[in-house]
Amino acid sequence: MTETEHTPRIRVRGLEKSFGDRHVLRGIDFDSPAGTSTVVLGASGSGKSTLLRSLNALEVPERGVVAIDDVEVDFAGLATGRAGRRETERLRGQSGMVFQAHNLFPHRTVLENVVEGPVVAQRRPREEVVAEARALLDQVGLGDRGDTYPFQLSGGQQQRVGIARALALRPKVVLFDEPTSALDPELVGEVLAVIKDLASQGWTTVIVTHEIRFARQVADQVLFLDEGVIVEKGTSDEVIDDPREDRTRRFLSRIL
Ligand code: ADP
Ligand code: MG
Repeated sequence: MTETEHTPRIRVRGLEKSFGDRHVLRGIDFDSPAGTSTVVLGASGSGKSTLLRSLNALEVPERGVVAIDDVEVDFAGLATGRAGRRETERLRGQSGMVFQAHNLFPHRTVLENVVEGPVVAQRRPREEVVAEARALLDQVGLGDRGDTYPFQLSGGQQQRVGIARALALRPKVVLFDEPTSALDPELVGEVLAVIKDLASQGWTTVIVTHEIRFARQVADQVLFLDEGVIVEKGTSDEVIDDPREDRTRRFLSRIL
């Protein structure tokens, strides 16, 4: 086999991030092969969001390497000023991020919300983007809602627009940070169903979630994060159903 066949879609090595004297990520290592879903579990404050934000350079770690496909950033060796920003922006362009709250533009239609990024940030032709955006809205079950405004949608529908918007940027990977934790319970399922759908279509995803049943269904790999360290890494059978570490067991018993 050639080396490229072994090259994962996401490669993270030795990631270290502090806020002041608070050491939040303490040497994170993992790989995500193309087409797989990685679920990140961990208590509040364990560093999950910081990890996800570091993957697309919304946070700039002090040390470590993040590579997504052909874009690799070694944060310790990051150039200063404009050259460094160019590197982090290239990395950011590799991933789409879906947050807990959607941040849709309230005065733009659903379709315009999806079209905006590719047209403005990527300077792609509007007509092509509109066609793609309609297909994406269809894919998340909102094909007939393009001309409505965000406030006319439920929270679950708004999150699905957020997913379509992330996909419209044609990212290599999609990062989800607790995408359902701000939703009323009856709206959680429709959003998780869309994410499951993406995973089964071969998207590479990293998902922070407390939805354990969903994690079991979707995860090719589960990382359990505790105080900025991955203390357990494996399949969901291993990490969720048969954890080796006491800390993992205690965490799971609290949320199950
Ligand atoms: P999680 O997503 O697992 O709840 P976070 O990554 O959000 O954890 O936060 C990990 C730790 O880093 C927490 O103690 C949090 O208070 C701290 N932290 C996160 N972002 C910042 C920031 N911008 N400035 C200072 N501290 C931060
Ligand atoms: Mg978080």
